[in-house]
Amino acid sequence: MKTLIPALLLSALTLGTALAKSGPPVNDLCPVDGKAVRIIYRIFSERGNVAFCCTECMETWRKNPGRYPVKPRIEK
Ligand SMILES: [Zn+2]
Repeated sequence: MKTLIPALLLSALTLGTALAKSGPPVNDLCPVDGKAVRIIYRIFSERGNVAFCCTECMETWRKNPGRYPVKPRIEK
């Protein structure tokens, strides 16, 4: 059983990394126009996954991310 533990730890770490990149977005509201986001529209940035309400907002933000600050969802 001893050999099983490192393997489990490794897979947990790998899963954690994968979730960080493809996991839920950090925001609930579109940073561009404040509408509810749809998670299919998202960009992975250094702030995490940023989600948008539509592809137009996604493109707008991508061109000028500094102009539209992302408000992270409040964790409960
Ligand atoms: Zn939007």
